[in-house]
Amino acid sequence: MQETVPADWTLYDRDMPTPDDVEAVRTYCRELARRGLLTPSWPTEFGGREASSWEQVVISEELWGAGEPRGSQYMGVTWIGPALMLAGTPEQKERHLPRIARGEAMWAQGFSEPGAGSDLAALQTAARRDGDHYVVNGQKIWTSYAQAADHIFLLVRTAPERYGISILMVPMDLPGIEVREIPTLGFSHVVHEVFFSDVHVPADCLLGAENEGWSLIRTILANERVGIARHERADRSLDELVAEAADADVPLGDPHVQEVLGRAAAAAAASRVLNYVAADAAYRDSADRATAASVYRVAMGQMEHGITHAYLDVLGPEALDAGSRGDYSVIFSTTSTIASGTTEVQLNNVARNVLGLPKG
Ligand SMILES: Cc1cc2nc3c(=O)[nH]c(=O)nc-3n(C[C@H](O)[C@H](O)[C@H](O)COP(=O)(O)OP(=O)(O)OC[C@H]3O[C@@H](n4cnc5c(N)ncnc54)[C@H](O)[C@@H]3O)c2cc1C
Repeated sequence: MQETVPADWTLYDRDMPTPDDVEAVRTYCRELARRGLLTPSWPTEFGGREASSWEQVVISEELWGAGEPRGSQYMGVTWIGPALMLAGTPEQKERHLPRIARGEAMWAQGFSEPGAGSDLAALQTAARRDGDHYVVNGQKIWTSYAQAADHIFLLVRTAPERYGISILMVPMDLPGIEVREIPTLGFSHVVHEVFFSDVHVPADCLLGAENEGWSLIRTILANERVGIARHERADRSLDELVAEAADADVPLGDPHVQEVLGRAAAAAAASRVLNYVAADAAYRDSADRATAASVYRVAMGQMEHGITHAYLDVLGPEALDAGSRGDYSVIFSTTSTIASGTTEVQLNNVARNVLGLPKG
């Protein structure tokens, strides 16, 4: 597969900041699909080859280890496709699943709003049924990949009750959708605001029943949180760090250096094992799958911070020069404890569901 990755590809390009990056991702994913590596565990009827879920985990690890030149396509594979299989109409499955399985679909996740992040159920973007359309008004924020997406998986309020939430799979080229990039300081990840002004969305874009999107969302979020193999990239970053340190004549036998590297390696190993536990719970559809995902996410954030700390401590501040592995590590660790649910919120879940502590 390496030969289909552009020669100058870097980890920054996985966020697809330029049209060339978007095209590179499409080319790469089409090739992954052609070789049966994009959706291996999906049913044959939807473009998979019914491989075990664990084979998909191994492939995901290899892709993450290599810098994952998949852009946003992991979303279609990891949670949007499974959500469609669970709740989509035959027509919706036919419309979306083959495109995902062929490596052609680009999705964005329209969940967060200025007033609804951790408290996602507070979302206010409204969809009002009008004949055979929904009319959507509101704003999403921090939307990754919106610049390249052909569809957005959009959470909307369709009833005033707290959980009166529905899911619309909205084509991004409908009139009334405006995407604005949010400039960020210090890290490259491309995020956006997405505005919806009287957007007429065909009613057949509704996934599942109206006002009953919340339970599906909870399943989706558990899937989203286990499908990524950051531990593999962390292990390879640590190998590179040790090699760089040896080249720079850092005394690798120094007890402090050994302790820092040992702690980072232990955190990566723990994160790997907890990822497998969470994946196993998800594949068995076990009742504690969401909790297992929260435990994993906390460990993963600690791992990412441990790697950054190791770069800084072992190689010094120059290890964080722009474009270096250490620099990527700062980006990954900064976002890893926020995106897909913050560490504090994951800890709350663990406190409630594992330790039986009261809410709040
Ligand atoms: C790189 C990146 C990419 C993202 N991509 C997307 C995307 O594609 N689509 C999308 O929809 N969203 C995306 N997000 C948004 C992300 O899901 C939210 O940032 C996250 O859910 C937190 O919400 P918030 O930013 O509103 O923070 P808030 O919820 O306002 O939280 C602010 C702080 O308060 C803490 N806090 C909040 N509630 C509690 C509580 N009950 N107990 C203890 N502490 C609490 C939080 O831990 C945090 O430290 C992305 C974020 C990042 C960083």
